[in-house]
Amino acid sequence: MTDTWQSPIAPGLSWYQASVGERPAYPALDGSRSVDVAIVGGGFTGMQAAFHLAKAGVSVALIEGGRFGDGASGRNGGQLGTGQRWWPEDLEQDLGLERSKALFQMAEHAKQYLLDFARMHGIEIDYLPGQLNVSHKRGHDDEYKRNAEIAASRYDYPHISFMDAKETAERVGTSNYYCGVRDTGTGHIHPLKLIVGLARVAQAAGADLYEMTRATGIRQSGGKTMVETSSGVITADRVLLATNAYIGALEPVTAAHIMPIGSFIAATAPLDAFPHVIPGHEAVCDSRFVVRYFRKTKDNRLLFGGREVYSSTNPADTAEAIRGQIVETYPALKTIPITHAWGGNVGITLPRQPFVREVMPGVTSIGGYSGHGVMLSNYCGKLYADRVTGKASALDLLEDLKIPAFPGGRRMRSPLLFLALTWFALRDRL
Ligand SMILES: Cc1cc2nc3c(=O)[nH]c(=O)nc-3n(C[C@H](O)[C@H](O)[C@H](O)COP(=O)(O)OP(=O)(O)OC[C@H]3O[C@@H](n4cnc5c(N)ncnc54)[C@H](O)[C@@H]3O)c2cc1C
Repeated sequence: MTDTWQSPIAPGLSWYQASVGERPAYPALDGSRSVDVAIVGGGFTGMQAAFHLAKAGVSVALIEGGRFGDGASGRNGGQLGTGQRWWPEDLEQDLGLERSKALFQMAEHAKQYLLDFARMHGIEIDYLPGQLNVSHKRGHDDEYKRNAEIAASRYDYPHISFMDAKETAERVGTSNYYCGVRDTGTGHIHPLKLIVGLARVAQAAGADLYEMTRATGIRQSGGKTMVETSSGVITADRVLLATNAYIGALEPVTAAHIMPIGSFIAATAPLDAFPHVIPGHEAVCDSRFVVRYFRKTKDNRLLFGGREVYSSTNPADTAEAIRGQIVETYPALKTIPITHAWGGNVGITLPRQPFVREVMPGVTSIGGYSGHGVMLSNYCGKLYADRVTGKASALDLLEDLKIPAFPGGRRMRSPLLFLALTWFALRDRL
């Protein structure tokens, strides 16, 4: 089998790595073994599943090719959001009110679950409340107003309010946006702190956790699945592929449905001299196709994410590329030092909805949260464990979405997607 797996570690230290505090190392797998469930991937999905399975008395081994959180989970924008990736009224058109409502409710449970989980296990995740969704184009006031109204009337979610241009400018600290909605029922977190705490809790529950252990192949015989690595084979009754955008050539069905898109973030020095920048400390997410997402950290830095590349090549200088977008948004920050810059792969699916599928007998793949996975991935890991342990699981809701594969097969899908997404990105600029 050709192996195109690449290290997820983008060049440059992330601000999360610099500020996470103690990050204990875990051993690599050393020798073959048998378990009930093997998990490939040490991000939120895999680690939550490991925790809940171990807690329920299921023997579980999790392997991660790098350090825990080296994939998207330890390097993302930290924004929880609300609902699914699409506004509920848009999902409604596709799926009908009942399913759209069920998916919205599920995401609400996911949000609450994450916050409760961190609180219950004493994991400091630097939670700050609030999110502003803002329009970079004129003429969308009615749409944003309707979003707030529909959330309250049809989805029992009264926490969203419309912002006109003036309020948007005051809350974001720039006049670049024309209107928006303010969501006081969500917020943002330090994701690497969550994964470090989660690993500690999963290990304490009895999960066997291995870092620097890459799965190189999966085969099946006699009703068992064998996950091969260079330091041993894990034989299991069931396998969870929690590899998201980093699947490479390990398993073709996942690779055909989840596409990696590079997204990049830069952190500035603390903004103590610029109190006009997001004075309420909410997270901001804009309406561009190549979304700009930014927020201030607890120590008052601006974390600004935006530039995407649609191939596996990292940009030569992430910091400078992001600086352009920061200055466009906040001209006063022209000379602010950028202290950290990093990137990671967002796993997207064609309809931008999560991918949950049994890809081989007993082998389930979960991922493709399409930039909306901070809360959903944590919850989906738990839901997978619920399913394995015989509890009713809302995972069925996602499995029923019937995500199609990207056209073009493994070889062609990247160039095709590159063309399509470059076109949409160009439209952002027009
Ligand atoms: C830059 C960036 C910004 C983002 N911002 C946001 C945001 O603000 N809000 C939001 O909701 N979502 C955001 N996301 C998406 C979110 O981070 C993900 O949806 C979520 O973390 C997915 O978690 P996961 O556990 O499924 O996958 P990951 O965290 O990607 O974990 C997969 C793991 O599998 C490992 N792996 C892969 N192949 C192998 C192998 N063969 N053997 C062993 N290990 C393997 C990888 O090393 C990786 O650690 C962002 C993503 C990125 C990259």
